[in-house]
Amino acid sequence: MTAFPPNLMTGYQTFSAQRLPTEQSRFRELSERGQSPEVMVIGCCDSRVSPEVIFDASPGELFVVRNIANLVPVYQPDGGAHGVSAALEYAVQVLKVKHIVVLGHAQCGGIRAFVDKAAPLSPGDFIGRWMSMFVKPGETVEIRDHETMTDFATRIEKAAVMRSLENLGTFPFVKAAIARGELHLHGAYFGVAVGSLSVLDQDAKEFVAVK
Ligand SMILES: [Zn+2]
Repeated sequence: MTAFPPNLMTGYQTFSAQRLPTEQSRFRELSERGQSPEVMVIGCCDSRVSPEVIFDASPGELFVVRNIANLVPVYQPDGGAHGVSAALEYAVQVLKVKHIVVLGHAQCGGIRAFVDKAAPLSPGDFIGRWMSMFVKPGETVEIRDHETMTDFATRIEKAAVMRSLENLGTFPFVKAAIARGELHLHGAYFGVAVGSLSVLDQDAKEFVAVK
């Protein structure tokens, strides 16, 4: 049998010896009462952008979905299997989260593949197909004059957060919860290099740095 990754073994032993003793009562309570997180985070799979780390969250605090480029598809009740939509349905309908945060980030590989029009990585072109849903039918996403590739990618990383927020609004149960004042949507953007966080001002449509 192939060995379980040693760094995960060591990591668990450290967790078990150091963090678990202080969290044990919390885990037990969460086990008995069930989870009741108030916040859902939709983030990217990128290993540098862990919502629990960035927001210093404890077990039970964040209901997290991560996918390539933190995208939310439009509401599509077509009989297909939709992972993000299933998580969203559970978060809003059962957990009744009060906030949904779409967390974008700098140097996103999914966005970079999209803006570079990268070749498929496999015959399924799963990333290409996944990223293509970010674009509305008839919409074109092009680099602007005098814009560097990095600036273009950054602009699209932020646009992806806004598009995901827009798409969240296409889910009837999300729309209804917002209308009742029970759910609030937020956008955020994490700068990997310096660990900075910006929060989307949805009226001004710009990201404002958190001090
Ligand atoms: Zn990413």
